[in-house]
Amino acid sequence: MVAAGSALGGRVKPELHHFHGGLALDGHKSESLQRDLRQASLPQRLYLPIRQHIGDSNRPVVAVGERVLRGQLIASSSALISAAVHAPTSGIVSEIGRHPVPHPSGQDDDCIVIDVDGHDERIEVDCPNPEELGPTQLFQRIQRAGIVGLGGAAFPTLPKLERAASQGIDMLIINGVECEPYITCDDMLMRHYADDILRGTGYLQQMLTPGRTLICIEDNKPEAIAEMRRALTRSTLQDSEIVSIPTLYPSGGEKQLIEILTGREVPHGQLAFDIGLLCQNVGTCVAITRALEQGEALTSRIVTITGDNVASPGNWETRLGTPISHLVELAGGYRVRSIPQLVMGGPMMGFALRGDRVPIVKASNCILVMQEQTIPRDTGAHAECIRCGKCTEVCPASLLPQQLYWHARARNFERTREYHLFDCIECGCCSAVCPSRIPLVQYYRAAKSEIRAAEHVKYRSDRARARFEFREKRLALKKQQEEERRRQKREALERKREGDAAAAPAPDPVQAALERVKARKQGATQDELS
Ligand code: SF4
Ligand code: SF4
Repeated sequence: MVAAGSALGGRVKPELHHFHGGLALDGHKSESLQRDLRQASLPQRLYLPIRQHIGDSNRPVVAVGERVLRGQLIASSSALISAAVHAPTSGIVSEIGRHPVPHPSGQDDDCIVIDVDGHDERIEVDCPNPEELGPTQLFQRIQRAGIVGLGGAAFPTLPKLERAASQGIDMLIINGVECEPYITCDDMLMRHYADDILRGTGYLQQMLTPGRTLICIEDNKPEAIAEMRRALTRSTLQDSEIVSIPTLYPSGGEKQLIEILTGREVPHGQLAFDIGLLCQNVGTCVAITRALEQGEALTSRIVTITGDNVASPGNWETRLGTPISHLVELAGGYRVRSIPQLVMGGPMMGFALRGDRVPIVKASNCILVMQEQTIPRDTGAHAECIRCGKCTEVCPASLLPQQLYWHARARNFERTREYHLFDCIECGCCSAVCPSRIPLVQYYRAAKSEIRAAEHVKYRSDRARARFEFREKRLALKKQQEEERRRQKREALERKREGDAAAAPAPDPVQAALERVKARKQGATQDELS
């Protein structure tokens, strides 16, 4: 068997493998592919959450009343896992405050609000030829552009690249699989920006020198595959090929895609780098190309607006911060005058939104606008588990969803860890087949967030304790040093005193005798007088 990761250059077609489980789903892709890619107009106001990535939050670096230009840094952090935020157009910062953001918690978060002035002026950026830059300079430019993975997870790209560079990779996988129903933004991207994707792939090769590069696309996207193949023949990429993957959900999951291409399972608790692989989404490749060639920060992305409750589904190139209500208007508005059910992402992995005031962020690949509730909520009204085992059959991560469910429901988090809860990719396959209609993924998400919250509290308390212990040690050391200094000073004084005494001249015996005679004489004289 020839594994795709073997050192055979690009000459041998990779043999494709199967991952465990998965589901053949109705794609619903055609709805949003009827019309070509369009540019979304600018709304009057943009709402930019200061955190749009997995990792530490940013701090605003602009003030209310300040004029900003497109590409200008508006929020940043010095934390290792973070990604800066830039102004998507020119305008005035009118507010920095809490607004609705797209997050499963449904809570508000800090946003920078920009009143758009319509001039769309950009900042000037110095842009040297990226082909002449070394990896460190390329990393810096990617960091400056605030790039995150655009497949939906929004993990900052720089730490991923740095880790891949330090560990070394044999294979680079460019992910254009887009397996979740309804979402077509990557399909559109590949049809329109194939050359940019491949140039971004070339820069990744320049930084990471993988032995081989596979660009993977599901076989339900023939136009994208053809466009990418044409672009590959025009490009100068080495050891790279386009691989058509059979359509099966969730083949776009990183671990599932690796298994399809190499037949290897990423071991529990490990990541792709640990077995010499790196996956990057096609959208991320375009963002890298724009950052390196034009110095452009990540301020826009392609968003699919689709579902049975929007008049004219399609894909729009959209500035970050655009309210969803603006995009729905561009898509012809709601079909039914009821409260729309909005989801960010697809029906399997997405999450429900609180309303259409929520803005588009870096992770917003799709907004699903439905008439009925799509994402099941845990109302506790579902039937009991009948131990049918269907969930185990479809789990692509080879987990035991039923056991995970019992332990998550009982809040027995130690046991959920033993059953590898954190290897669950939240694909929703188990929930989709469960005859008892148990919203299994909701239980797993809730368990994960409780565990993370507890870990965060523990991390903070550990840090506070470490700070306290450090302070105590520092104070003890300072006291010890002061005592030592005082002791040394005391000893020095004593030595000086002894030295002074030793250095004083001894009395002259002749002079002393004369003094005594003189004193006696004076005594005698006084006796005579008296
Ligand atoms: S959601 Fe998690 S447990 Fe359920 S099928 Fe997907 S990976 Fe398995
Ligand atoms: S599919 Fe549902 S009912 Fe069947 S074993 Fe899994 S959790 Fe239980």
